[in-house]
Amino acid sequence: MPIVMQQKSDFHNRYDIIARIGKGQFSTVYEAAEKATNEHWAGKVVINKTDALPPPLETELAILAHLDHPQTVRLKEVFNSDDVCIIVQELVNGGELFERISEQGVFSEKYANKFFRDLLLVVKYLHEQGIVHRDLKPENIMLSDQSEEAVLKLIDFGASKFAQHDKAINGVRGTPPYMAPEIFAYQSYGKPVDMWSLGVILYVILSGMFPYDPEERRFDCPFISPEFDEISESAQDILLKLMEINPEKRYTVDQALEHPWVTGEKASSAEMS
Ligand code: ADP
Ligand code: MG
Repeated sequence: MPIVMQQKSDFHNRYDIIARIGKGQFSTVYEAAEKATNEHWAGKVVINKTDALPPPLETELAILAHLDHPQTVRLKEVFNSDDVCIIVQELVNGGELFERISEQGVFSEKYANKFFRDLLLVVKYLHEQGIVHRDLKPENIMLSDQSEEAVLKLIDFGASKFAQHDKAINGVRGTPPYMAPEIFAYQSYGKPVDMWSLGVILYVILSGMFPYDPEERRFDCPFISPEFDEISESAQDILLKLMEINPEKRYTVDQALEHPWVTGEKASSAEMS
């Protein structure tokens, strides 16, 4: 889909701002009602004081326009003026995975399992398209609604890149607690960095804690007591495969999808409850 840039004034002619619904490192997101249809959308407002779109924003828009998957946020249209860029996207109503974790505390393995499989499936789609998200974390994973049956939707392709191979990307980007060791080591990297982030996310949703302190540059995956006492060996095994320091040995998304904890093959019903 080619992206047509419209003027900010057109945005205000066509939409009413309803409420501020989110804030990220680089943007503020508003719920906006389209006057003609009364449909509600999410307007991501990114400060852009340059005439041309800066390359990361251009890439974010190109990737959003490219994506076509039920679990990636849908792009509607873009407005750009000399001070801001407004990205109108599908409104995702169920809040951030981050909020669900804060409200609910840790997830049971059964619940975590369902979310994680959904997460792997959408990352598989991205990786097949040659896209590395680079900022996978609970703040960038939304839920479609408030119910237990909610589906995951990935948002925020602001750090994402098209990467032809696993050493295609350079530069320190992402969110430190979720960033792979090779990013901190200033090496070239690719898709495996997303798999590392998925490992950290899974660790956090199962235990309520971060596995390591990025400040200390120690990237081990400790299974401490009592948080891990009740967590199955199979779950611990996939965590170790995802939080493998060597990106060449780290599980790919296809390997993760075949792991017994994900397929449910070897895990006993006691372990999965
Ligand atoms: P940034 O690139 O600044 O991190 P995000 O795209 O992550 O911006 O948006 C910031 C926050 O706004 C998100 O963490 C989320 O809470 C909210 N948000 C973003 N997009 C949507 C959307 N499509 N629907 C609902 N809320 C959203
Ligand atoms: Mg974000």
